[in-house]
Formats: sequence, structure tokens, C-alpha cells
Amino acid sequence: MEWETVIGLEVHAQLLTKSKAFSGAATQYGAAPNTQACAVDIALPGVLPVFNKEAARMAVKLGLAIGAQVNRRSVFARKNYFYPDLPKGYQISQYELPVVSKGTLTIDVDGVEKVIGITRAHLEEDAGKSLHEDFHGMTGIDLNRAGTPLLEIVSEPDLRSSKEAVAYLKKLHQLVVWLGICDGNMQEGSFRCDANVSVRPKGEKKFGTRAEIKNVNSFRFVEKAIEYEIERQVGVLEGGGTVVQETRLYDSDKDQTRSMRSKEEAMDYRYFPDPDLPPLVLDDALIEGVRATLIELPDAKRVRFMSQYGLNKYDAGVLTSSREMADYYEAVVKQAKADPKIAANWIAVELSGFLNRDNKDIAQSTVTATMMAGLLRRLADNTISGKIAKDVLEAMWAGEGNADAVIEKKGLRQITDSGAIEKAIDEVMAKNPKQMEQYRAGKETLFGYFVGQVMKATQGKANPAQVNELLKKKLAP
Ligand code: ADP
Ligand code: MG
Repeated sequence: MEWETVIGLEVHAQLLTKSKAFSGAATQYGAAPNTQACAVDIALPGVLPVFNKEAARMAVKLGLAIGAQVNRRSVFARKNYFYPDLPKGYQISQYELPVVSKGTLTIDVDGVEKVIGITRAHLEEDAGKSLHEDFHGMTGIDLNRAGTPLLEIVSEPDLRSSKEAVAYLKKLHQLVVWLGICDGNMQEGSFRCDANVSVRPKGEKKFGTRAEIKNVNSFRFVEKAIEYEIERQVGVLEGGGTVVQETRLYDSDKDQTRSMRSKEEAMDYRYFPDPDLPPLVLDDALIEGVRATLIELPDAKRVRFMSQYGLNKYDAGVLTSSREMADYYEAVVKQAKADPKIAANWIAVELSGFLNRDNKDIAQSTVTATMMAGLLRRLADNTISGKIAKDVLEAMWAGEGNADAVIEKKGLRQITDSGAIEKAIDEVMAKNPKQMEQYRAGKETLFGYFVGQVMKATQGKANPAQVNELLKKKLAP
């Protein structure tokens, strides 16, 4: 039997506000335990939450970016459960009326575009953290993270493979970072994902029973966890069993998921509107104010790069992977007055090669946009050849200065003086009488050999086009 996979993702994006969702405590990552937890965060009796409007602005920003409905009135609700890292005994969330609903995100898998529905995005607060190490058999509680604002973004069950799921996740990650509402740091837990996975016989209309895989914190693990889960569920069904609806954990060391709790045991959260908080009412001024700050979004920029600069989809995609990258590219094109396609190649392929190799992002590049523009100018005015330019870029990357400094220091200036090139050719011909004879007797494949010898004799600095032209003349019988 053929099986079809159905996936829906719930993403928690930590919002980049300076203070918490309902208190004035700082949200900075990595502070000493419990130094950023105030009376509200540790739930002392009698405290009252005050909502941080900046979090609402960020939620609206996402809503506008995914073409969603931004709800003028949404309601904070209490989600009740007991856990040591949740001192209030409930999490403030949004339930029936979220701040954002009905958006979409377009993904691209192997060149095929697909629109994925986003059911809702709602505001909520994070819990604290239990620390199980270093406490000699006891558990430590760090409440620094308690009350940090989160935006939970829930997709429709529109994804049909682990590849689509990862593409969606990457796209959403790019967007929240682009909008400046989340730092996207997955190791630190700023962007994490629960994957809901089910399978059904191909052609079946009804969804199968799903398992929810909790808190997967890398793109690779999401893909692996889903793949494992698909195989497990198909195995259960083909063995005549039934999939139980449950919450599972992904263990990356063993590359498998295991049951955490079944849905039957799942808590009844007893959601109800939080009496301490008024409904969140957004007026036109706020929404329009946010709209006015919306910058060109990644998809629009990619399409513009393709039409304005004649780039292919791949290069345009790489060059719009982040705002910094896109700004870098446009700065180079402007400063170097370079052919946009050549500039694209040098950034999306050559420079990106170094960035990937050394695991850096463009903001950390030793080669600034001005330096890259300088390199392209020397390429355009024939001071150096493309091959030498790669060496110059490597030296620039290693911190040896700008293109002119590297070219000067290493004596890489291209030889365009035809007299000098002819002299090198004469020497090569004198040293290779046998090859000359063979070439003139018709072995034309030797032409490449002569080009190579001349380039070698000039340490790669001779202008390749001139070498070709002059060699042809001189070698002719
Ligand atoms: P809960 O809050 O209990 O997790 P939701 O209705 O909010 O339930 O659904 C959570 C996620 O599960 C959504 O992303 C949704 O698309 C996805 N989902 C729902 N049904 C299925 C299914 N049968 N298979 C896979 N994903 C599903
Ligand atoms: Mg869920």
C-alpha cells in the first residue's frame, strides 16, 4: 500500500522585546539564574500583569507579512497546569481569539511552489527552566525565561513530506529574523518547533491519527524526526495496529522518537479568559503604524532581484537569504558599477563559499561590500583575470587587506603588454621544439598545452584572451 504523510507545525518564536510580556524584567539570554525574574515572573501573591505593547506590534508585523487577518480584539487566556518551572500554575496564552489568524507562506521545494496555510499566531509567555545537572540529585529552577514573550505560529496540516516541513520552517525562520521580531537562534531555543505527523493511505480523504513531536531544535533534526515517525507509523499500521494520539520526544543521539505522554492522560488545561488582563484591542493607528515600518519582504526582493538584475532563481535566493546579504549585494553593485550578474556570482558563489566553509554570516565577513566592489573594479578594468581574482579574494578573506593592496603586495597585476606576452611565448616555443613540430603537423590538441606553459611562465598573470590570440598567430606554420 502507498502511504501519504500529513504534517502540521507549531512554531514558538521568542519575540525580541527588551522586557518580558507581562513584567518589566529583562529578557536577555544567558544571565545568571533568577537574576531576571521579578515579583510578577515568580508569581508572588497580589502581583498583576501589565502587557508589553511591543510584543503586540511584533505579532502584528508577522500578521501583515503573511497576509493574515490581524484581529482588532483578541483575548488572553489562562492555560492551567502544574509544573515546577511555572510558579503561577498557569501560562498566559491566547486560545479562542488569537491576535493573528488565516495567513499563508509560500514554500519552494525543488522548484515547485506551494502555498501553506497558517491557521493562527497567538501571543503567550514562556515558562522557566528546570536544571537537572549540578544539583546533586535535586532539580534547580531558573525563572529568567518565565514570562518571555512568544509568538506561537500554527500551520494548517498542509505539509506532505519532511522536505516540505523543513522548507516551511526555514522560510518562517527567515521571515521572523528578517522582520526583526526574533533572533532565530535555535540553539538558545529562540525558535523551536513541534511537529504533528500522521499518515494515511494514498487517496484517503480523512486524516490519520497524529503524533506530536515536541521541541525539535534544528532543521536537520526536524527532518530526521519526521522521517523516523513516518516509518514508525507505517510500520504500526502495516502490522495491523493503530497509531495512538500522543506526544513524543525526539532523541537525536538514537535518532528515534519515543512516547512522552498519551493524549488520554493529557491535561485538561481548563482554559478561561484571564481576569487580570483586559482584551488586547488594536486600533488602526497601531496597525497602520506597524504597516509603515514594513520593509520589502524576502519573496518580493527575490523577484525584484531576478527582474532588475537579471539573476537566476538560485542566485536571487542566496542573495535574499537575509537582509544583510541583500544589502551587501546591492551596495556592491552600486559601488562597483559592476555587471549585476558578475557581482551576484562573486557573492552568491565565491564569497558564500568562504562564509559556509568558516560558518560565518555576511555580517561577519572580513571582506566588506566596499572591498568586494574594489575587487570587481580590478576585474572589470583588466588589472587581474578571473582566476587571479579568486586568489585575491582568498587573501582578502584571510585579512590581507583590500584588493589593490593584495594585488600590489603579491605583484598580481595582469600582464596586458603584448610585447611581454610575446616574449614569454617565444621562450616557451624555444623550449618545446618537439611539441611545436607535432602541433604544426596537425596535433591541435597541443594548443592547450602551450596556453598552460605561457600562463605558467607568467605566474598566471598574462591576460588569457591575449595569450590565446598571440599564440594562435605565432604557432601557425
Ligand atoms: P493541539 O493544540 O492539541 O496540538 P491543534 O488543533 O492546535 O491541536 O493542532 C496542532 C497542529 O496539528 C496544527 O499544526 C495542525 O495543522 C496539526 N494537525 C492537526 N491534525 C493533524 C493530523 N491528522 N496530522 C498531522 N497534523 C495535524
Ligand atoms: Mg499542539
